[in-house]
Amino acid sequence: MKKYAFGVDIGGTTVKMGFFSTTGELKEMWEIPTRTEENGKYILGDIAAEVKKKMDELKISPEETAGIGVGVPGPIGPDGTVLKCVNLGWGIFNVEKELSKMTGLKVKAGNDANVAALGEMWQGGGRGFKDMVMVTLGTGVGGGIIIDGHILPGINGAAGEIGHIPMKEGETETCGCGKKGCLEQYASASGIARTAKKRLAEEKDTDSVLRNIADVTSKDIFDAAKEGDAFALSLVDEVGKMLGKALASIACVVNPEAFVIGGGMSKAGDILIDAIRKYYVEYAFHAERETEFKLAELGNNAGMFGGVKLVLD
Ligand SMILES: [Zn+2]
Repeated sequence: MKKYAFGVDIGGTTVKMGFFSTTGELKEMWEIPTRTEENGKYILGDIAAEVKKKMDELKISPEETAGIGVGVPGPIGPDGTVLKCVNLGWGIFNVEKELSKMTGLKVKAGNDANVAALGEMWQGGGRGFKDMVMVTLGTGVGGGIIIDGHILPGINGAAGEIGHIPMKEGETETCGCGKKGCLEQYASASGIARTAKKRLAEEKDTDSVLRNIADVTSKDIFDAAKEGDAFALSLVDEVGKMLGKALASIACVVNPEAFVIGGGMSKAGDILIDAIRKYYVEYAFHAERETEFKLAELGNNAGMFGGVKLVLD
């Protein structure tokens, strides 16, 4: 009888470790540093040691353990082969086989954004949906697509990289990915702040409380918009339009039941969701206008939850 499982989310600086019941309860969580030295060769060994330590401490047998589900910050194939995780120093090897060899447990791995989407579907804002798209609005724009309860990984785990949907012609600045005009350049937390600074410099006559802030952040913009600042409201409207249009395009391809919006910028709440929905409805194909919009609920823990779901599936 499998009663327990581990959910692991590997980040560039810390590894989040979660000990779960197979019913989806996060019973314990802790973090260890990600040792990226020597091409990250110690990372899996460190994780294996933590898992063994926890099983010894709680006197849990391998027979009771469903396995370990892992989110990795980079592209990964359906068989568990990572194709270079630049910020971990990893080259090309099979994470599932390696970690399984070290622990004797079943291991499943996926791209971290995709795994987080699965977590939200299982125990977060996407509960009850089987077809959903997770949109993470943070420093960048990330995403994960869930079709019939399963991650749509694509050939190398890059499906759901919605931040790099081309949106605009004539952009002069370069996106982190090397292209110009990506969704992320306008609709991420740093994107909306960038637009604000650019427009404040160009529109000398515009009056706004944001003029008094030295280094405008997305939070400043949403706070000002909630207070009725017309300029801030126009920025929120612009972001809503970009996202509404991008999500309407995504809906044309995958026709989800819901979009789950997460990441730091989603803390703005309803004002953001309303701005996205306003344009989504305008751009969406008629059969897709009813798609629901939900806020993510698991925050930084989504990856651990998704890892467990991955290994249970
Ligand atoms: Zn890009």
